[in-house]
Amino acid sequence: MTDNIGLYIHIPFCLSKCGYCDFYSFVPDEGTMNRYLDALLKRTDEYSAVINCPVDTIYIGGGTPSVFGGERISHLIEKIRSCFSVTPDCEITVECNPSSVDEKLVKALREAGANRISMGIQSAVTSERKSLGRLSDSQQAKQAVELFRANGFENISLDLMLGLENQTIDTLDESLDFILSLDTKHVSAYLLKLEEGTPLFEKRNSLSLPDEDAVCELYLHTVKRLRENGIFQYEISNFARPGFESRHNLKYWNDEEYLGLGPSAHSFLDGKRFYFERDFDGFLNGKKPKDDGFGGGEEEYIMLRLRLTNGVRFDEFQKRFGKAFPDSIIKEAKNLMKYEVITLDKSGIRLTENGFLLSNSVIAELLF
Ligand code: SF4
Repeated sequence: MTDNIGLYIHIPFCLSKCGYCDFYSFVPDEGTMNRYLDALLKRTDEYSAVINCPVDTIYIGGGTPSVFGGERISHLIEKIRSCFSVTPDCEITVECNPSSVDEKLVKALREAGANRISMGIQSAVTSERKSLGRLSDSQQAKQAVELFRANGFENISLDLMLGLENQTIDTLDESLDFILSLDTKHVSAYLLKLEEGTPLFEKRNSLSLPDEDAVCELYLHTVKRLRENGIFQYEISNFARPGFESRHNLKYWNDEEYLGLGPSAHSFLDGKRFYFERDFDGFLNGKKPKDDGFGGGEEEYIMLRLRLTNGVRFDEFQKRFGKAFPDSIIKEAKNLMKYEVITLDKSGIRLTENGFLLSNSVIAELLF
């Protein structure tokens, strides 16, 4: 087991279901949320008996944790603190949606020790938000950010979405201007993916989505505008002011261990991967998680680390695996350099901005 561990708690509740969303979530009632809290408290107890290293990041995600409410989240954080050794500087992130943020929630989260907020905005353009089925408007998002800030939250991350219906560089600039005006410390910018089974997927033939070249342009424009404003890319989809990179999410990309609780939550513990199925009643009734094989091998490590702008450092690889970085991969990287998708030097290997756009193919080319 690693020195410190991250804890992910999945809250599978939302006020309504967005048209593009494939996350495991549904609209709950109070009784359902209370029963879920009980189940989470029980699982926290169970796992604290087998994990004996400190917890240095807690990420409460979803779904929409803000729908779960400040009181239940505080109760949960309190339980985690009583069961695990939570480090004094633990990063505690709570995902929120502007439509379910009010003063009571913000104050409760602050009191519970949450110190990082991740908020879904996706777009500041009303028509784009509507096409995604988002409930709140940009004014609500602004008020929510101001409320968090007034209550001492400095570390706020906002989500932006690229590749939306009718999105252009101009409308993207509108969203970027909005996000930058809120002085956020962190931005996650995801490409819209049409997931099978979602309402947006069903409508796919009638949507006027930007083509592949236009999406690349939107992505590179985002990277550039954020960089010009002091928010630097550190992962394919993530950008931060220096020192505000998500410590919890870095555990995933550094192939470090974490425990995930809740239906659909994944874990990596003691070299093994497992997950709780998308089965709410099963989780309530104590159903065991499903094995997902072994993790932490060389290929997995390289694949995950190449998502980071730092890429794979050869000295770190040597330290982790007790051997030199494979020559065969260096040889392949040299071949790919002519396409300007990879940078290779004495210290390591990493993808370029163009490489990030083709990350799946480049990584597959390197490893398989
Ligand atoms: S709020 Fe987030 S988790 Fe909930 S339906 Fe919308 S995108 Fe999915």
